[in-house]
Amino acid sequence: MQCRLDGQVAVVTGGSSGLGRGIALLFAEAGASVVVNYHSGAEAAAEVVRQIEAAGGRAIAVGADVSQQAEVDAMFGRAIEAFGGVDVVVANSGIQKDAAVADMTLDQWRQVIDTNLTGQFLCAQAAVRQFRRQGERGASRALGKIVHMSSVHEVIPWAGHVNYAASKGGVMMLMKTLAQEVAPERIRVNSIAPGAIRTNINKAATEGAAAEQLLKLIPYKRIGAAEDVARAALFLASDMADYITGATLFVDGGMTLYPGFEDNG
Ligand code: NAD
Repeated sequence: MQCRLDGQVAVVTGGSSGLGRGIALLFAEAGASVVVNYHSGAEAAAEVVRQIEAAGGRAIAVGADVSQQAEVDAMFGRAIEAFGGVDVVVANSGIQKDAAVADMTLDQWRQVIDTNLTGQFLCAQAAVRQFRRQGERGASRALGKIVHMSSVHEVIPWAGHVNYAASKGGVMMLMKTLAQEVAPERIRVNSIAPGAIRTNINKAATEGAAAEQLLKLIPYKRIGAAEDVARAALFLASDMADYITGATLFVDGGMTLYPGFEDNG
């Protein structure tokens, strides 16, 4: 058996850049029709669609702010109109608005929680409702699959990023609770927790001298690439992972292995 998504429809939020873009491209290569969601990057999303179509795949770009229920519902509506249903949802969109706790504005707190946690809740909720509505579609063993994009900061505290770490800690329990609730319906829900992957969200930390510092936190001594995360997402979305639900798959080169203890013998 291979990791394939033939005949399936995948919605990838934040699919115009970084990890979402990598996932959209790999899912299309694996046979899925892909809804490439974007927030601000309309042209970048159109380029992802062009790339998928040029390779013989099917995709559409759909703008939606994942923190707004009406926009999430409209995005699912567009997916169903274009492709007839939804089999996989990758709730990937996320932002950072960093500040020391005493300096953080309520707006910085709310923006991150709204996008990273409420946005993932709204997409998962819309997915469960759609999976139930459409019933068995036959292309997968599960009735539907949800993959949340968490972070190593669902378990590693992160000074100066309390909004972000709280949002990802929230995603962990959102995913597990949801997985428990819908497992009897054969809906699988899992998370990916990336470590340091080179994308727009962490450009400053992954280039030049900062990259050297970062490598000290990565036992595997390599900063990750979007493809590393995309392959994990494809595995979790495919029937290869059919008995896996409620799990967080860490894609972090060992960042969660307490690297400070390496030479502390
Ligand atoms: P990125 O900035 O390239 O991607 C974030 C995406 O989210 C963008 O496409 C952006 O347009 C979209 N987005 C932002 N607000 C949105 C909204 N309100 N509605 C819809 N879309 C919105 O960065 P990335 O690294 O690809 O991040 C993707 C996910 O991976 C995020 O959830 C992030 O927290 C997580 N993550 C990334 C890393 C890393 O090292 N890159 C590590 C851990 C977790």
